[in-house]
Formats: sequence, structure tokens, C-alpha cells
Amino acid sequence: MPDCPRCLKPLPLCICDSVKPIESRLSLLILQHPQEQDRALGTARLTALHFKDAVLRIGLSWPSLSKALGRPVHDPSRWAVLYLGSAKVADLDTKSDIVAINRKGEIEDNQRAILRDIEGIVLLDGTWSQAKALWWRNAWMLKCQRVILGPAHPSRYGQLRREPRRDGLSTIEAAAMLVASLEKRPDIAETLHASFERMLAKYRAAQSVLPELAPKPRPKRDYRRRKRA
Ligand SMILES: [Zn+2]
Repeated sequence: MPDCPRCLKPLPLCICDSVKPIESRLSLLILQHPQEQDRALGTARLTALHFKDAVLRIGLSWPSLSKALGRPVHDPSRWAVLYLGSAKVADLDTKSDIVAINRKGEIEDNQRAILRDIEGIVLLDGTWSQAKALWWRNAWMLKCQRVILGPAHPSRYGQLRREPRRDGLSTIEAAAMLVASLEKRPDIAETLHASFERMLAKYRAAQSVLPELAPKPRPKRDYRRRKRA
């Protein structure tokens, strides 16, 4: 089965014909772990296709934000990394669903100013451990803000996929939440969610005709962890 040259998905899963790149104020940098292999359900490339100002890079480490992005960034502190640490929005004293935190995992005092000044967002695409590897291998991220999300709804992946990250969101859902909220553009979230739903609908429909998409048991995370210990 040939793949779509744009989204690289098997053609029955491609929704490229309905994707029109959005003009956004924020820039987007999506870093994908090279071992992230989920071409069918992955959303990194689809997310990048949705924005005029989005870059997808596949790799493990880059020397700087500028190098990763492919253009100069003058102030990395105006970029935010969607952070993966143990801090949870629910544990913080806030009503906001997007929170800037400091290195200790505490809520930053000047939330408003930090979030208002953000020019770009870094998203780490992959499983929980792949995303963590990206975090540890790219020291320049320490110069960026850290934001965490407290989504009001669970991921639309539902039962199709184990939680890809601690906040449970796919890359496209995380981008939708961040960009729409920081830019006060609910239309961006609607567009991205609609695309994701369309992709999932195609996936469910294709499961019966594409044997490689049939549900298969996934290795249990706990088992892997025990083996490594
Ligand atoms: Zn496509």
C-alpha cells in the first residue's frame, strides 16, 4: 500500500486533502524521537502540516534551539517547552489549564507575562520515555519556559492508544490546546480537533481492511521497567 508523500500515512488514513495551513502568531517546533514508529496513529506530521509556521525535526539532539528550528532565535526564554516532569496542573493552586512552572515544578509567579510573551512552542513527540530522552539530550531547553497542561477532557485517542504522555494528549491535541489558548483562537482548536477526529475515523474504518492496523497486544510498560531494573 503506497503512503501519502505529505503525511507519510498509508493512503486510507490520509486526510491531507482537508488540511489548510493555519496562519498563527506562535511558531511551532515539533521534535520527534527517531524511534517513534507509529505512522498510522502518530500526529506530529499532521500537526506540522496544519501550520504555516511549524517545523518537524526527527532526531535525538540539537546544539541549540536555533539549530533545531533552522533559523536564529534571539530569546529562547520566549519559547515554551511542553514539559514532561511530574508536576500536575491539578496539584497546583490555579484555575488555568495552561501553567508555566519553574525548575522546581512550582507555579511561576508571573504567569500572565510569561504566557503572553511566548513566541514559540516546542513539542516532544514520542512515547513517554522517548520524549523524556529528548528532554535530557537537549540542554538548550533549560533556557525555555516550561508549561504543563491540565486538559479538561481525556485524549480523543480513547482506547486506540495507551497514554502517549503524562497529560494523556496526542501531539495534535496538545498543539490545539496551547496555540488556541495562548492566542485566544478557539477556531484553531476546532480545526485541529476536527482533523484528528477525521484521522481516527479513517483509522477505525481501515482497521477491517488493513491487517497491519488490527489491534495487537502492546508490551506492558511495567514489564519493561522491571526487566531493565
Ligand atoms: Zn496525506
